[in-house]
Amino acid sequence: MVKKRTTNSGDRWSDFSKSMSRTLDNIKDGVSTIYETQRFKSKISNHHRQIEKLKTDIGTLILTRFEEGEVYEGELQRLCEEIKKHQLLISRLEEENANFRGKKICPSCRKEIPLDAAFCPACGTHYPMKSEEGEGMHIVSEDAFEPDYMGDMEASDGDE
Ligand SMILES: [Zn+2]
Repeated sequence: MVKKRTTNSGDRWSDFSKSMSRTLDNIKDGVSTIYETQRFKSKISNHHRQIEKLKTDIGTLILTRFEEGEVYEGELQRLCEEIKKHQLLISRLEEENANFRGKKICPSCRKEIPLDAAFCPACGTHYPMKSEEGEGMHIVSEDAFEPDYMGDMEASDGDE
């Protein structure tokens, strides 16, 4: 009786471990499928990143030529001009932010420097003092793409 029960439970155990090992094989297959899928996905997204980087390089190349004086046709020219506008707005915001805290921006290295410094402590560039500043501001005002803002600037120019 005891022997038979042992045999029975042995069979059950052997069935159990067979089915267990099938399950483990399935899990292993599943894991390796997930792993392979991840590898493909990672390779694909790596190529996507390369494309995005190359697109940025193309943009930089086009913009550099635009800055060097090349005139493009249509949309390309418009996009370059739009970037230029944003760059000008950034410059103004940086200057306003610096002025707000009693500092100004070095026109050469774009670092914040004390308002009364005649030379930039960071790059050594001499920059115009307050009396000469009007000229520097006019360079910015040449692009009149923000009329309201420009109106304010010209009014303050007139006061000085
Ligand atoms: Zn500087």
